[in-house]
Amino acid sequence: MGGFSWPDGHRAALALTFDVDAESAILAVDPAYARRLTTMSHQAYGPKVGVPRILRMLERQGVTGSFFVPGLTADRYPGMVEAVVAAGHDLGHHGYSHVPYHALSDDDQRRDVERALASLERITGRRPEGFRAPWWELTDSTPALLAEHGFTWDSSMMDDDRPYLLDSGKGILAELPVHWMLDDWEQYAFLPEPHIGAVIESPAKVLDLWTGELDALAAEGGLMVVTSHPFLSGRASRVATLERVVEHARAAGGIWIAPLSAIAAHTRAVVAEADARPVPSVHIEEGIYER
Ligand code: ZN
Repeated sequence: MGGFSWPDGHRAALALTFDVDAESAILAVDPAYARRLTTMSHQAYGPKVGVPRILRMLERQGVTGSFFVPGLTADRYPGMVEAVVAAGHDLGHHGYSHVPYHALSDDDQRRDVERALASLERITGRRPEGFRAPWWELTDSTPALLAEHGFTWDSSMMDDDRPYLLDSGKGILAELPVHWMLDDWEQYAFLPEPHIGAVIESPAKVLDLWTGELDALAAEGGLMVVTSHPFLSGRASRVATLERVVEHARAAGGIWIAPLSAIAAHTRAVVAEADARPVPSVHIEEGIYER
């Protein structure tokens, strides 16, 4: 693996990130779920109980995390957003409605981005610089839209496990890649309806999966972005497991545990803009897939 230059002699990096989807992830499937009180309460657990418990863990560990909050969630739980910001964590943009951007026209993407920006700015008085696409689904027009709106980094792509610069055509973004293996959704998500997942894994298995990747990736100088959803990972044994991951990283040594904003700033400082990668659009030559 080609070396990535981490700061202060660190050999790799770990970021703890939290997507506070709450009700929005279910309403984006079908807004009719709004009348299902228990289903909505399963989602509300995230901002109500999960986020405060996660904030206590991060404080205990002295770790700064990155929280991505959809505009709809921010409007419903402004106090939660204020608590995240007051504790010094990153507040990132995560769409307004949590509808994936491939399901929206370019104009509707723009409206969704602007509506969420307005919500987050109204609550915090600050404009977020980081973005994570709902369902991790950017389209090839989203990066330019982000650059146009003043974003400086994104964390939605999967084509590397080190940070890089992405040339949107309208400006440069630092990209901090993610992966499904490092997402709690695949481990813990279950609802009878809608189908969001079917298996509830043991936190011990998740600890094994994540610390295994951390050890191997650290040996190669990579960036490990763990993504947790407070409605899932806010449960007691799961927060405890995330805390074990932090302790494992500390014990391993040489791992920079940092918020994505700091990793993005570092990436912009050490990677030359001339090395920014173009948006990797896939253009299909006519006829190749015709039957
Ligand atoms: Zn989400």
